[in-house]
Amino acid sequence: MMVRRLAHGLGLRFRLHRRDLPGTPDIVFPRQRTAVLVHGCFWHQHEGCRLARQPKSRLDYWLPKLARNKARDRIAQEDLQALGWQVLVIWECETKTPEIVRSKLEELLQPS
Ligand SMILES: [Zn+2]
Repeated sequence: MMVRRLAHGLGLRFRLHRRDLPGTPDIVFPRQRTAVLVHGCFWHQHEGCRLARQPKSRLDYWLPKLARNKARDRIAQEDLQALGWQVLVIWECETKTPEIVRSKLEELLQPS
């Protein structure tokens, strides 16, 4: 995955798929205490994103389902923060522009 490759290139140490953490982050950076969630734009309804366009049929099925996904995301992020983790969301559409992901990752290297 490109996020992994970029993190590696920046010299960030990471671990994959911490299933013991809320939302099962795709990558965690233990030293920065940051959990990365890579979100599909449709499933997680990326606001204002063209990949997140709402379905046109079977709305009675999709709308509650997508709303549940969003609610679950919010809870996972709150739980992570409550455990002292910083949360970084990387959207599927951003993974097509490595510069965006790189600058997000680079921010982790800034002393806070
Ligand atoms: Zn998106």
